[in-house]
Amino acid sequence: MVDVERFRILLQEERDRKLALLTALRQDITSVNAARQDANADDEHDPEGATIAFELSQASALLEQSRAGLAQIEAALGRIDAGRYGICEVCGDEIAEGRLEARPWTPSCIRHSAGKA
Ligand SMILES: [Zn+2]
Repeated sequence: MVDVERFRILLQEERDRKLALLTALRQDITSVNAARQDANADDEHDPEGATIAFELSQASALLEQSRAGLAQIEAALGRIDAGRYGICEVCGDEIAEGRLEARPWTPSCIRHSAGKA
């Protein structure tokens, strides 16, 4: 039987990290956007503008990833509350503890992990 409380703590810590990251990324994007307006940059012809656009797209991609990761963590915490944590949502088998160690937010066993965490 999986030590659910230990994973709850791990997941809560990871959630806090993600929330802090999301806050930092939003601030980054806001300040880059402000800089962009100050510079009144032309993305296509101004090298500075291209750099800013690149930074912005990197930060936006990271923001999306973090948001998706956070959603997985929230879902895993929900499964803990529902008493279904560590059970594959596809086949209902117990998820190997080693897999949960590596990915505490995973909703499925290794056989059903395709395209997911
Ligand atoms: Zn499975």
